[in-house]
Amino acid sequence: MPPAQEVFIGLGCNMGDCRANLRFALEGLAALPGYRPVALSSLYRTAPVGKTDQADFYNAVAHGKYEGPPLELLTGLQALEQARGRERRERWGPRTLDLDLLLFGQEILALPGLEVPHPRLAERVFVLAPLAEIAPDYILPRWGLSAGELLERLPAEEKACQEAKRIKWE
Ligand code: ADP
Ligand code: MG
Repeated sequence: MPPAQEVFIGLGCNMGDCRANLRFALEGLAALPGYRPVALSSLYRTAPVGKTDQADFYNAVAHGKYEGPPLELLTGLQALEQARGRERRERWGPRTLDLDLLLFGQEILALPGLEVPHPRLAERVFVLAPLAEIAPDYILPRWGLSAGELLERLPAEEKACQEAKRIKWE
């Protein structure tokens, strides 16, 4: 059995009861074979970017240890998305649950259907801010920088329009 990997999962919702949807995802994650929860960020609320005629997004990042192949973990995440009724009508549109495999240890993968680190990670405040909160010293493969350093590199106007408010889970 290969050693357990440090994994980081991005959770997102902007449709329905988001706190309930995200809690469902966290319980589902904890029950995935091979997955063990380590830490959870605060909840972050962000106004939508791009397609702005939709509700605010709720995001968080979960840190876990995972024993198993990356594609199996992705399949588990997709099963949880489906179980919460995610509809894939439009790419940047509303969603009840979005689960992204952000980091799988230090691996850099470009497989059909799975790119790790997640390709848009370094552009998204709602991913970098919770990641910097729970893993301030973790160096991300591909960039060789921490999440906080990647956040600092983002242009000020980008940070301003993507302002992510840290809020409580309760
Ligand atoms: P995004 O999460 O970037 O807003 P989507 O969730 O709509 O976009 O994209 C889902 C697609 O992305 C799936 O087909 C999945 O196979 C693919 N994908 C590639 N890399 C990853 C990853 N690291 N995590 C989750 N999905 C990924
Ligand atoms: Mg996704």
